[in-house]
Amino acid sequence: MEFNNFANSILKWYACHKKKFGWRETKDPYKILISEILLHKTDSQKVEKVYPKFIEKFPTVYYLYQAESEEIDNLIKDIGLFYRGQRLKRIAEQIVNEFNGNIPVSKEDLMSLYGVGEYISNAVLCFAFKKRMPIVDTNVIRVYGRAFNVKSLKSRPRTDKGMWDFAEKMLPKRNYVGYNYALLDFASDICRAKNPLCEICPIKSICVYQKEGVKNEGRTAVLHESPVGNKTDGVDDVARGKKVAPSPLKMQSLRVITVPSLIFIRPDFSGPPRRSFVQICLWQTPYTPKSLYKITV
Ligand code: SF4
Repeated sequence: MEFNNFANSILKWYACHKKKFGWRETKDPYKILISEILLHKTDSQKVEKVYPKFIEKFPTVYYLYQAESEEIDNLIKDIGLFYRGQRLKRIAEQIVNEFNGNIPVSKEDLMSLYGVGEYISNAVLCFAFKKRMPIVDTNVIRVYGRAFNVKSLKSRPRTDKGMWDFAEKMLPKRNYVGYNYALLDFASDICRAKNPLCEICPIKSICVYQKEGVKNEGRTAVLHESPVGNKTDGVDDVARGKKVAPSPLKMQSLRVITVPSLIFIRPDFSGPPRRSFVQICLWQTPYTPKSLYKITV
């Protein structure tokens, strides 16, 4: 019952507060796919400035296919993530060569595209092809975590099947496209990572965080472990929309173990908390050559 209340309240809120973005005004799957790739780990306000220029320059996948890599890189350099240009180029090549220039309609085919994982494939299926698919990113996890006190024990909750199953259950039978957009806007504007606006929140009457003061960020991840099997859209914990602040790590001691090319950090619950800051750089996959973590130990 509370699930229905949640969906209805979010949709009602969205009806008055929806954000207008170019990628929400189009039905063209190519343009929607492009927007999702640009939005990956990037603030929507930044993407908003680049997206119209990108679409003007590369209005179809064939334009992108024929583009020089430098042209793409130059156009999107202001929104960061230098690898994104290469990703766009390779995706265009795949779509032209393997899918006859059409954006794939099946999840399996979408996920075969270079750098496309669960989130982007579901977003394209939902927003472009109107399929009833859930979306789960760091912001969505935060909202569900606070509202319903659901928490993933995985180090990367976005890859937790349980979290995706929960998100699927939350999807209304109708207007699931609006619901997914609503969830993103709600997470960005009301249930913000820092200083959520609980006073004016439309779901405060059912929110566990508000009712019980549960400080649950929906994730307990500290650092990377091995991926749990399903392909993700890149690897890190910065959501679309607003950048999410690093999860507040619990005060606890951490034990550092080094092996030839990787660093693992694991929580060690014994021993007293210590106060100092450690910054660690990890070299990871081709998608994210560098990640920086600030860890309180
Ligand atoms: S009441 Fe506060 S914590 Fe709960 S969903 Fe609303 S903004 Fe988020």
